[in-house]
Amino acid sequence: MKKIIIAIDGYSSTGKSTIAKKLAQALNYIYVDTGAMYRAVTYYALHHNCVFEGELISSKLIEALPKINISFKYNDALGFAEVYLNGENIEKDIRTMEVSQYVSPVAALSEVRQKLVQQQQQMGKEKGIVMDGRDIGTVVFPEAELKLFMTASAETRAMRRYKELLERGQQLSYEEVLKNVTTRDYIDSTRKDSPLKKAKDAIEIDNSNLTIEEQLTSILNLAKEKINS
Ligand code: C5P
Repeated sequence: MKKIIIAIDGYSSTGKSTIAKKLAQALNYIYVDTGAMYRAVTYYALHHNCVFEGELISSKLIEALPKINISFKYNDALGFAEVYLNGENIEKDIRTMEVSQYVSPVAALSEVRQKLVQQQQQMGKEKGIVMDGRDIGTVVFPEAELKLFMTASAETRAMRRYKELLERGQQLSYEEVLKNVTTRDYIDSTRKDSPLKKAKDAIEIDNSNLTIEEQLTSILNLAKEKINS
C-alpha cells in the first residue's frame, strides 16, 4: 500500500501529539514529536550552563550543538517512541514549565533548526510517518501528502495543558500556563526562521469543541483518501 507523509502543525497545546500518536498507531506509521527534539536541546542548554541569570546564552548553545545527539526509542508499553539525549531517556524531564519557558527562544535559533530539520527529513525519507510540530508542512516536508493545521482558543489550550501538568504533579497556576502558551505562540509565529504559519494547502481543524475520537475519525478518513488516491 502507498505510504504517505502526514504533517501536523499548529499552536501550542492544540492536542497535536495526542492525535498524531493515535493516527500513527491506526496506520502503523512512525510518529515523530519534533517539539520533543527542541525541548531536548533546551534541556541540554539548561544543564550545561547555556542559561545565565534567566537569559539564554545563544553562542554557548550553538557552540555545543555538535555534542548534542537526539534519538528516539520505541517504548512498547507506552505505544510511542521516547526521546533520548546523548543516550539518556529524558522523555519525562522535557515536559516541565522550566523547559517550556526557554524552548521558544532556543527554537528561534537558525543553527538549532538547521540541525533538527535535517534529522527530521532523514527520518521521513521512507515515508509512512506522522510528524507534528510548527514547520512540518511549510519547511520540513513541503511536499507532504496530507497537511493539517490545528487550532483552538488560547483558554481551551491552556486549560488542557494545565490539567496535564497537574496530573504530572507540577504545582502551578492556570494563569502561568496561559501566559506560557500565549508567549510561546507569539515567539513561534513571529520568529524570522520558519515561523509557525498554516501552509497554503493545509486543512485547518479547530478542535475547541471536538472530542479526540471525532478528530481521529475525520483525520483517518482524510489520510485513507490520500493513501488510496
Ligand atoms: O510541541 P511542543 O509544544 O512540545 O513544542 C515546544 C516548542 O518547540 C514550541 O513552542 C516551538 O518553540 C518549538 N518547536 C518548533 N518547531 C517544531 C516543533 C516545536 O519551533 N517543529
